Amino acid sequence: MRALPVSALAACGLIVSACGGAAPGVPAADQMARRDAGPTASATAGEAGPGGSARPADKAPAARPLAGRVVVIDPGHNGGNARAPKAINRKVNVLTQWKACDTTGTATNSGYPEAAFTWDVSKRLARILKSRGATVKLTRSSNTGVGPCITERAAIGNDSKADAAISVHADGSSPGNRGFHVIMPKKIGGPVDPVVGASARLGKSVRDAFREGTGLPYSTYIGDKGLDYRNDLGGLNLSTVPKIFIEAGNMRNAGEAAKFRDPKFRQRIAVALANGLQDYLRP
Ligand SMILES: [Zn+2]
Repeated sequence: MRALPVSALAACGLIVSACGGAAPGVPAADQMARRDAGPTASATAGEAGPGGSARPADKAPAARPLAGRVVVIDPGHNGGNARAPKAINRKVNVLTQWKACDTTGTATNSGYPEAAFTWDVSKRLARILKSRGATVKLTRSSNTGVGPCITERAAIGNDSKADAAISVHADGSSPGNRGFHVIMPKKIGGPVDPVVGASARLGKSVRDAFREGTGLPYSTYIGDKGLDYRNDLGGLNLSTVPKIFIEAGNMRNAGEAAKFRDPKFRQRIAVALANGLQDYLRP
């Protein structure tokens, strides 16, 4: 799966709005097919880092407030997806439809890929959560592999019996659009139904913390006050644990792209996400 030849087609995914966006000019069906996605590389346990010290002074919680809690972080897409179009375009059943196993994700206009952004933010988030006592798992172990499929990304959260799961993304919409949004599941008459309510609470906690911590506005083009509910994402439909997506902003917007390229801002994002997760998870 990792040895597929490079294809000219592969580059398309980086050009077409790929992530969570209602980009004008891209047919809705095409966007849906490209939105969330990943083949079968297996996932892994979390990246440990040297313990995070990135806690804002005004948020300093107890030493290990997340002890005993399990969080699964799903860094959207993967850096190797573009070279494996057959693998990532394979259709998988997400209960409400069939979708591509994974997608390449979007990128900034200067070529900073969403997959690299989600990987970096996720590693930072893992470090912070671990420093607060949580057990953390990531759904992929590098940014050079392929996938995993969206079905497996959901299964990793389920198998881990995660107390909360978050899929990290950034959008690729038209340049004038900006802001972040959180995506939560809807009831579909399927496995996610029992955790729709908990996912909504998780989503609101993360929405509030994200806005406070990053200063980014609510999305100007999707959802209501930074909240959106969907039934077409495999990563949500197949989850049996509370789960959300964060679309951290619009990578095609120059101002947000500049922020996303800045490691200090990515740390702010990670701290904000950790605070939102912690707010939801606190006893
Ligand atoms: Zn994405």
